[in-house]
Amino acid sequence: MSLRKRHFETSKAYYPFRKLLGKPIIRTNQTRSLRVQDLVSRKKLAKKRTASKSKVPKITYATLTITPKDDEAYDHAVNEARTRLGAHYSMFINGEKWNSTGEEYSHASPLNTNLVVSYFPKGNRDDAKAAIDAARAAFPSWSSKPYKERIRILRRAADLLLQRRYDLAALMALEVGKNRAESLAEVNESVELIRYYCEQMDTSNGFVKTLESPGPKQDTASMLRPYGVWAVVGPWNFPLALSTGMSAGALVAGNTVVYKPSSESPVLGYEISRAYLDAGMPRGAFNLVTGPGSTVGVELQENKNVDGFVFTGSKDVGMRLYHQFSSDYPKPIITEMGGKNPAIVCETADLDQAAEGVMRAAFGFGGQKCSACSRVYVHQNVKKRFVNLLTDYAQKFVKIGDPTRKETFLGPLINRTAVETYAKASDEARNDGGKFILGGHVLSAGEHANGHFVEPAAVEGLPASHRLFMDELFVPFLVIGEIQSFDQGMDLANKSEYGLCAGIYTKNHKEMATFFDQIQAGVTYANRRAGATTGAWPGVNSFGGWKGSGSSGKSGLGPYYVQQFMREQSRWIVN
Ligand code: NAD
Repeated sequence: MSLRKRHFETSKAYYPFRKLLGKPIIRTNQTRSLRVQDLVSRKKLAKKRTASKSKVPKITYATLTITPKDDEAYDHAVNEARTRLGAHYSMFINGEKWNSTGEEYSHASPLNTNLVVSYFPKGNRDDAKAAIDAARAAFPSWSSKPYKERIRILRRAADLLLQRRYDLAALMALEVGKNRAESLAEVNESVELIRYYCEQMDTSNGFVKTLESPGPKQDTASMLRPYGVWAVVGPWNFPLALSTGMSAGALVAGNTVVYKPSSESPVLGYEISRAYLDAGMPRGAFNLVTGPGSTVGVELQENKNVDGFVFTGSKDVGMRLYHQFSSDYPKPIITEMGGKNPAIVCETADLDQAAEGVMRAAFGFGGQKCSACSRVYVHQNVKKRFVNLLTDYAQKFVKIGDPTRKETFLGPLINRTAVETYAKASDEARNDGGKFILGGHVLSAGEHANGHFVEPAAVEGLPASHRLFMDELFVPFLVIGEIQSFDQGMDLANKSEYGLCAGIYTKNHKEMATFFDQIQAGVTYANRRAGATTGAWPGVNSFGGWKGSGSSGKSGLGPYYVQQFMREQSRWIVN
């Protein structure tokens, strides 16, 4: 059976949420009561989804199923995208191209740094101010539109992204080095994100609720209303999905947006803007400003006309924004940040499942996912077999090279700094007595000579308190720890400033229930072959961090996300 086919099947039947509606295997009160709600809402959702016009093809992070037709269209799109290399782009402010002072910065492709992917205006604080003013001017009209009208425009943008999926995936490979299956999945995720947030607005009747009447001829109601102008600042690693999700959440709720993409992925940021504008977004409702965090980002943070801030990126930047965004009065800020995601492999685990799941989560997109598994704690009685299987899987599947090629699993790292992080971690592991069971070297010969390529690395033998078990590296570097018991695994897994994703492999139901109850993480998985800690999907598996991984306690891709972009107004009318 092919690997892809097997994934599809295992992900469909994946234990313990078999068929999602099936009998729960962990018999806690919480899961039992969830079942009934699930049944009702899933039936409703299924009905709505069948009504949706253009279906998203089922390439997700779990299935990664690509047809020959996809391959053909993707290859064609890569050739097209190569003809766009070195193009000069603009910002978009108030619905029009905006070129700032004329100063530009270039962005080289991580797979071959001799290729300049794009030139973008190097925006300054005045550009950011102009965008904020445009967004403020557009707010009264955008927010007072019936929400169904906003949804209509956003759904059109989703359709456009879907139509453009091969071009977007090809650009993603050249701009950030993501491989073909993962970039196609990311485009599909972006489409689903917009549709899911629109659906949330729709099924909640625009978040307007009639409340109990206080007396004759009196009406009361509660409504969620938009704040105003939101700054949206995204990272480069999911350059399309995260920025689309954050901006769609803000826009569908009736806010206007000033968006700053990462300087490592401005082309994808430009493409999001193009989709919104082509879909009929009114002037000023969505604005794109490119440039450094130190100018554009800081203006967004300090300008008093910005009413809310949604950020995804590193903990350092996120925490700074979190502390500094509000000054005169509290303003909403959502920061989604980094992770140091653990997996626990228990004595009873299906080791084949665990090895493949950890390999996929640790090395998928070169460990450059906030959800990447970067530390694994394995029971001493099964560690040797787990390590052998992990090595086999990595050697068999992790083909390193040009991410546009069909067979490539691991493309380049994003930049020179990431390669240096990897090299430093490797040296440190060697010096501190670690034993590499995989990799540990930078690749700089032959076809890897001009890009940022490294081997997938896995190290054992370091003490559990070592820095490499603690710090987010954001490169394909897995540390393996040995545990004597499940309890010790839980203890170590929770010893982290982060709390984003976590996974477990066990056949012991009690351990699984304890894991879900006690793990300090917002996104959790059990026995998942398609990825120990990765693979969230809109409406299926929400994604948000606890502790140092996220500020709001509400996840993206989930049912409580859109509400964060609104504030409640309670109304009492005497007729
Ligand atoms: P980063 O923090 O360096 O940059 C993120 C964005 O913030 C970029 O657009 C950057 O230009 C901007 N920025 C930088 N300084 C700023 C400032 N002073 N004011 C305003 N904006 C500023 O992160 P990155 O390298 O782009 O992305 C990688 C990080 O993102 C990792 O830590 C990863 O774990 C995290 N991440 C988290 C999630 C999540 O959902 N929790 C998802 C993806 C990535």
